[in-house]
Amino acid sequence: VIRRVAIVGSGLAGLTAARLLGERNVAVSVFEKSRGPGGRMTAKRVPGGSADIGAQYFTARDPAFLQFLTDHAGEASFGVWQGRFGYQNNGGQWESFPDEARYVGIPRMTAITRELSSTIDITAQTRIERLISNGGQWTLRDTDGGSHGPYDAVIVTAPPAQTQELFANSQLQMLAEELNEPVRHVQPCWAAAVYFADPLEQPYEGMRCQDEVLYWVANNSSKPGRDDQGQWWVLHANPEWSHRHQDTSPEQVTADMVKAFQRVTGCSEQPDDVVSHRWLYAKSSAEETPGFRWFDDQCIGLAGDWLSGGRVEGAFESAKGLVDRILPD
Ligand code: FAD
Repeated sequence: VIRRVAIVGSGLAGLTAARLLGERNVAVSVFEKSRGPGGRMTAKRVPGGSADIGAQYFTARDPAFLQFLTDHAGEASFGVWQGRFGYQNNGGQWESFPDEARYVGIPRMTAITRELSSTIDITAQTRIERLISNGGQWTLRDTDGGSHGPYDAVIVTAPPAQTQELFANSQLQMLAEELNEPVRHVQPCWAAAVYFADPLEQPYEGMRCQDEVLYWVANNSSKPGRDDQGQWWVLHANPEWSHRHQDTSPEQVTADMVKAFQRVTGCSEQPDDVVSHRWLYAKSSAEETPGFRWFDDQCIGLAGDWLSGGRVEGAFESAKGLVDRILPD
């Protein structure tokens, strides 16, 4: 019987699993290596506000996802980003994306995960490095030597490389090897937030570009509830360029990204402020994903976006699928 579960990671997958297990009367403990919850649905503090430097927006094609967010995070924590969205076609011309509800956290992306985590037992700044099996139960060891447990089952929601390392340290070699392929599909992403005191005039608030450097640029200040003086724009470099510049200095990277921003938007203004962030594990390019993994013999589950389409909504679907598998209603 599964009564106590440990969850590694407090991104959307970990928090979804925690909430859904809680509803089924399972005692849940979540462990997070960073200072707070959110994972890649994050916002960086910038002068005068914050900028979403990870996930830009999310879709909710499955009504169950909207229902979950309404019930567990509350209606006030998210809303539709009423922007204009365009992409550059192969000829370099701009075209509009089809209309679709694109959701964001309000007043920043982390509002959602903050609300979701409010009733959950989370131990932050704690990186789990080893799972120790003891008479059919698990104890978790963190990098400061702390022990947590025992638990009947463990759910790991870390990206594939971090999950693989955890398994390898835990003498779960067979499980670690299953992650060779997913690890290869993970792509890095250089992100920058750039500030213009004088607002720019652009035809779109969100732009998917065809550029040797940039993949995406967006006017973060156009999202609901941001209330910025001036405009913060968020720039994401494409995976190939990010990979090649993984070890380039942030100063050089942001200089190249700003030049590309001017090329893409045709604006010649220099930003008044720049902040950068390097994502080593940004997204998974895997196309056929199993949704989640459950290893019945070990009572170990895996959930996360990389198992379900590589997006925010996928992280939810993955965690929900896993919980339904472990504890059918
Ligand atoms: P994560 O959010 O990565 O959560 C995993 C958590 O585990 C992290 O908090 C991590 O710190 C923690 N962790 C890892 N190892 C350990 C350990 N050993 N011990 C303790 N804690 C650990 N998605 C969209 O839908 N739309 C977008 O526009 C979009 N844009 C994106 C742009 C960028 C630059 C990036 C990086 C991502 C983007 N995504 C987008 C993807 C989206 O952010 C993810 O799909 C989603 O947030 C993943 O949630 P998750 O819970 O699966 O993983």
